[in-house]
Amino acid sequence: MSNRLSTIDPMRIHSGKQRTQELGDTIRRVARLCTLVVVLPLYAEAAAQSPTPSPQAAATTAFNTAPTPPQDHQHGFGPGLSAATIALFAALAFGLHCINRKRARALKSAEEQRALLEALIDASDDLIFFKDRDSRFRLINRAAAQVIGRPPEDILGHNDDDFFPGEEACAFHAADQRVLSCGSTQRFEERVRHSDGHYERYETLKSPVTLPDGTVLGLLGVGRRLTQERRANDRLRLAAQFFDNAAEGITITRPDGVIEMVNPAFTRITGYSAEEAVGQTPKLLHSDRHSEAFYQRMWDSLAQYGRWQGEIWNRRKSGEIYPEWLDISPVRNEEGQLIHYLGIFTDISAAKTSEAQLEHMAQHDSLTDLPNRNLLNDRIATAIRRASRDKRTVAVMFLDLDHFKDINDSYGHETGDLVLKHVAMRLHECVRDEDTVARLGGDEFVVLMEDIEDAEQADQAAERILASLIPPIGRNEQEFFIGASIGVSLYPRDGDSVEALLRNADTAMYQAKQLGRNNAQRYCATQTETTRQRVKLENALRHAISSETLNVWFQPQVDLQSGELIGFEALCRWTDPDHGTIPPDIFIPLAENNGMIVPLGELVLRKSCAQIRHWREAGFVPPRVAINVSGRQLRRLDFLGVLCTILEQEQCRPEWIEIEVTESDILKDAEPAIATLHGIREMGIALSLDDFGTGFSSLSYLKRLPINTLKIDRSFIDGLPGDANDRAIVQAILAMGRSLGIQVLAEGVENPAQVAALRLMGCSTAQGYHFGRPALAETHLGRLACA
Ligand code: C2E
Ligand code: CA
Ligand code: CA
Repeated sequence: MSNRLSTIDPMRIHSGKQRTQELGDTIRRVARLCTLVVVLPLYAEAAAQSPTPSPQAAATTAFNTAPTPPQDHQHGFGPGLSAATIALFAALAFGLHCINRKRARALKSAEEQRALLEALIDASDDLIFFKDRDSRFRLINRAAAQVIGRPPEDILGHNDDDFFPGEEACAFHAADQRVLSCGSTQRFEERVRHSDGHYERYETLKSPVTLPDGTVLGLLGVGRRLTQERRANDRLRLAAQFFDNAAEGITITRPDGVIEMVNPAFTRITGYSAEEAVGQTPKLLHSDRHSEAFYQRMWDSLAQYGRWQGEIWNRRKSGEIYPEWLDISPVRNEEGQLIHYLGIFTDISAAKTSEAQLEHMAQHDSLTDLPNRNLLNDRIATAIRRASRDKRTVAVMFLDLDHFKDINDSYGHETGDLVLKHVAMRLHECVRDEDTVARLGGDEFVVLMEDIEDAEQADQAAERILASLIPPIGRNEQEFFIGASIGVSLYPRDGDSVEALLRNADTAMYQAKQLGRNNAQRYCATQTETTRQRVKLENALRHAISSETLNVWFQPQVDLQSGELIGFEALCRWTDPDHGTIPPDIFIPLAENNGMIVPLGELVLRKSCAQIRHWREAGFVPPRVAINVSGRQLRRLDFLGVLCTILEQEQCRPEWIEIEVTESDILKDAEPAIATLHGIREMGIALSLDDFGTGFSSLSYLKRLPINTLKIDRSFIDGLPGDANDRAIVQAILAMGRSLGIQVLAEGVENPAQVAALRLMGCSTAQGYHFGRPALAETHLGRLACA
């Protein structure tokens, strides 16, 4: 924009309206000339010829024919006339002679004036013509004749039809008629074909020519080529509009820096009116934010490169300091002399604010407003550089909340988000100002501690963090107990790059999870190998789940009195091509940890239901099959829906299965789990409480749980019959079951002595190697009753 503007002197901008006015003046002048020089003398001539000439006739004579040469009037003197008569004749003859001379003089003068008019209008570059009321040319100047491509004498007496294509001629004719009927000057933009075939645009003014008594003689047209001048005018108009309406402030100064003009945007931005600014120098706006050297560099750059642009802080009239983007360029005249400086500026305070906001957003987590991974990476990199220079230690702590996913799954993301915000605040409160607490996403946080004395200082900080999370986080009378597993890596001992420090802190964090969660571990090199193995195994398990290559085996459950088969427990089995057979004690906790337990559990549920259907289709009547369900599955809001769908799809009746849940899984977050258990019972599915005795075994909870069977954990059966403690526990559990009307099943029964002891104590059902190991479905065919 500035370039374009620099070629324009805004002081000399004039509009198209002015231009049309000029054309209007021309037509008025020519019309006056026509009337004076062509019409009136001929009217006068006609008046002299006839005592009552009609003005129309006079005008018609004037334009339709070339002026009639003066006629020779011959008069004879007949014989026999009296002297008086002769004297009268002589007086008459003299009178007539005088009249003739006057007429001849008048005609001569009209001729001369007409020639003058023709010379004048021929000298014009505008197209000038006069047409009579039938649109026939009666006068045409050289420029117009050139457009038509004929000499004027070939054109006079003809109309547009003879020279222009039909449509154009029609358009001209219609315009002529409009002017004649309206009786006023009208402006047209016409596209006119030149004799060589090319077209040009003309602005034409057409005016009716009338006699003083109002008689319309024809019309006078003056046309001016638009193209060149119009373009220039359009640019000037545009520049003027830009100047007035631009969002950018514009200052035009003299070479000595004195302000000559400012636009409305200047006033809007700076607060100074044009009157206040004109005559001052731009120092009016100086903010003291820049040194003299800064302004000097600006002028140097202008002198050297002919332009300066950059950010500058100025002061508004209100005193407020604001940033603007300023572009200064010189304006030179045709001789190359500097005549003005043009300064165009934009107030960028809003842009600066949003730029800062954008930058903040790009570097911070939107939920907690903690630094995100990008900013954390930068900060760790800077910390490493500083620590390497100052020979200091840096600690990176990787923190993962324990079982956070369960909160999300059970209470929804909104609650999960609130808990995360609280955790973020607590973390922030227990570190120093110079430390960074970042959120990587999900429930993963990283604390970066710079400049620490030793590893113990990092351990203490980790302990402080764990302690800060102990008080429950409350929401709507609901309290959440949040724990975290923390892994710590140290620079330079555990790595000298951002990646290495983060990776090793993550590895140590996983170790903390393995060690029972809610604790902090420092990284050590052997953890890396463990992590590598874990990642490999996780990938293999993910694949086994998605390819459904996991199997389900079945272990019998029997009635201790009759020895009769009363049920099966479905147990998951995994044999991987690379890792061989992996025991559930390894892969189930792994799946619990990374969330894969949910799809794994659904697969076991589906395969177990399908197996029941297959047995039944093959004519057997299998007993009820107990299927293990993890607490993470149970807490999912969609669990009952998934269960229903699987039963329906596998055509399995609810009473054919039993759901096994562990006591500890329920107690972790009891309310939603208990609600789901009731839902399961309402569907007509039996429930058993697994590993009973290993958790809190809270009687108050037990009373609220809608369970059918208690499974005494294998660890209490082990010591039977000899171990008095085990005996006492088993007896207590049996008594509890009896009083609550719940069936009790002993797990892990391996020998006849255990069977005898259990029978003696009144235990009715059992499961264990003594009665049968977990095995493929086919293995049990012999024990199944037939339909
Ligand atoms: P659990 O639910 O307590 O399953 C019983 C475990 O005891 C099974 O181990 C079974 O093989 C073992 N067992 C049965 N009788 C005896 C015995 O007489 N002596 C000994 N020493 N062990 C016996 P398994 O199959 O290795 O499963 C281990 C655990 O893995 C299960 O314990 C269960 O918590 C979990 N698990 C297995 N399959 C699934 C599943 O599909 N879903 C879920 N969520 N967990 C499963
Ligand atoms: Ca079980
Ligand atoms: Ca068990």
